[in-house]
Amino acid sequence: MIDEAAKLLARSRFVIAFTGAGVSAESGVPTFRGLGGLWKHYRAEELATPEAFRRDPHLVWEFYKWRMRLILKTKPNAAHMALAELERMGILKAVITQNVDDLHREAGTERLIELHGNIFRVRCTNCGYREYLKASGRVEKFVGKKSLPKCPKCSSLLRPDVVWFGEPLPRKEIDEAFSLAERADVVLVIGTSGVVYPAAYIPQIVKETGGKVIEINTERSGITPIADVFIRGKAGEIMEQLLEKIKGLIG
Ligand code: NAD
Ligand code: ZN
Repeated sequence: MIDEAAKLLARSRFVIAFTGAGVSAESGVPTFRGLGGLWKHYRAEELATPEAFRRDPHLVWEFYKWRMRLILKTKPNAAHMALAELERMGILKAVITQNVDDLHREAGTERLIELHGNIFRVRCTNCGYREYLKASGRVEKFVGKKSLPKCPKCSSLLRPDVVWFGEPLPRKEIDEAFSLAERADVVLVIGTSGVVYPAAYIPQIVKETGGKVIEINTERSGITPIADVFIRGKAGEIMEQLLEKIKGLIG
């Protein structure tokens, strides 16, 4: 299976990657289901919603600051690194991710489309203010604060710049992702359950426009039925082997 995937990738013209929480599992970022479902007796689906934020912004911010602290302790794994290298080799043209953990950027991926936002960005609930806390060097201070974060422009409440359950995906990102999918002749789908739409359309678009779907996952997913090559295994381990085989093929 890995050999077949390596051949497809080495022969390809325009490869994109589509990743979900599973690509970061080996870095120690739990998938929502891998959390054991629970944080302080809450399911992620009960906290990552606009309703939860309206009802109890303190609780939702506490959850997000806990996740920020957890993610800050992690680093990219072999899968993130292999994708960044495939981009430098000119094979991979973009990574489209549903993750908010910033690990693809940390690994060096340049063309990154974040469909669900970024946990290290905040935005104002009232004006257009946005801030990337890593760029302003304020992450540590931000997560340490107990009080609710306020907008420096208009003093309204700030919220995580992520897409919550029930919210639409950002227009610009979804348009870019769909147009990349139309151009792609191969999509590498890694660690996503493939049940959340419209994001799960991405591999479908590649398939319908004549491209190939390669999937890496520890389990079968919603994408598996349309996968041309399904490789069962951990993202980091498989991507490391795949990268070596591709290098062997293109010399
Ligand atoms: P998901 O939790 O629904 O699915 C994760 C998938 O990864 C599953 O199919 C699982 O079989 C697979 N997987 C687990 N470990 C793996 C490994 N080591 N290698 C390969 N595959 C592995 O995640 P999702 O489909 O991305 O959807 C949940 C949403 O929750 C995401 O879209 C995201 O916005 C959010 N989320 C983000 C993060 C993050 O940023 N790292 C973490 C949890 C949840
Ligand atoms: Zn504001």
